Amino acid sequence: MDKISIIVPCYNEEKVLPLFYQEICKIFAGMPQVQGEFLFIDDGSRDHTLDILQSLVAQDTRCRFLSFSRNFGKEAAMYAGLQNAQGDYCVIMDADLQHPPSLLPEMYRVVRDEGYDCCAGFRQDREGEGKMRNFLSRAFYRLMDRICNLEMRDGAGDFRMMSRTMVQAILQCQEYNRYMKGLFSFVGFDTKWIPFHNTPRAAGETKWNLRSLFRYALEGIFSFSTAPITLVGVIGLVLVAAAFLFGMGLMVRGLIWAGTVNGLAVVVDVLLLLSGLQFIFLSIVGQYITKDYMENKNRPVYIVKRSGGTVKQNHA
Ligand code: UDP
Ligand code: MG
Repeated sequence: MDKISIIVPCYNEEKVLPLFYQEICKIFAGMPQVQGEFLFIDDGSRDHTLDILQSLVAQDTRCRFLSFSRNFGKEAAMYAGLQNAQGDYCVIMDADLQHPPSLLPEMYRVVRDEGYDCCAGFRQDREGEGKMRNFLSRAFYRLMDRICNLEMRDGAGDFRMMSRTMVQAILQCQEYNRYMKGLFSFVGFDTKWIPFHNTPRAAGETKWNLRSLFRYALEGIFSFSTAPITLVGVIGLVLVAAAFLFGMGLMVRGLIWAGTVNGLAVVVDVLLLLSGLQFIFLSIVGQYITKDYMENKNRPVYIVKRSGGTVKQNHA
């Protein structure tokens, strides 16, 4: 019998947790062929989330919880969940029912029968979200797509069912600054995408504001891309090229046309050249630092999906 672990990061979710538990129970009642494990991660909530979790654990042996000493963020909560889950398949779900539990049977069918290691939901629409946030998210995904060399689908969140193999691969990435959407993509494996509609959260309120989302976006960029450093180098090259052209212009004008050279113009040109060179050198230093930065993450060099054949013992 397969075991499915449902990992639920919870930060101040007292209003919605009972509702979530009710819904998830309904879904599992319809899947008698699997065993459920509901692993709640209380991410330092300041409301009665922990009390609710304690009572859930007391009444249902499928429930477990871990409670953090303070708010460490959703990324930390997901990591803790994956580390502690015991299921053959792991699902990460928000507590606010924005990730419809009704997709679970279909996700399970996909990972069990269709040979995928991951079945992920993506939001078809962004109804119920502010225009500004909508626009910024889209811009962010386009940017990430271009600079990160990783497939990151617009509308894709953390809601997905993964096989044990894929979970182990994600756990092999032990970096401190975790950007899960990037890691999902980094570890590879085949993912099937199924669409769902965005719905407003069932109760309680969102933990994100524009500032925290912006920070999160920067986290994503700096964890997975060295493009900003390269950009500095490109700016340097442009400046040096401009200085060169400007200098040529000055020479032609001074020597051939007017017979004199404008001192101020020469100073400006030299400044342009030097600052361009500084940008280039900064970028070179940056390239070494980013190499070291990536080394420090200690990410796996490769990830094996399946292997075949047996190792022969050498009886010499
Ligand atoms: N969450 C968390 N720690 C945090 C912020 C959020 O564990 O510091 C959880 C939260 O309880 C919810 C999920 O992450 O289950 C998504 O949060 P939210 O619904 O506020 O985000 P949104 O859906 O607005 O992006
Ligand atoms: Mg939400």
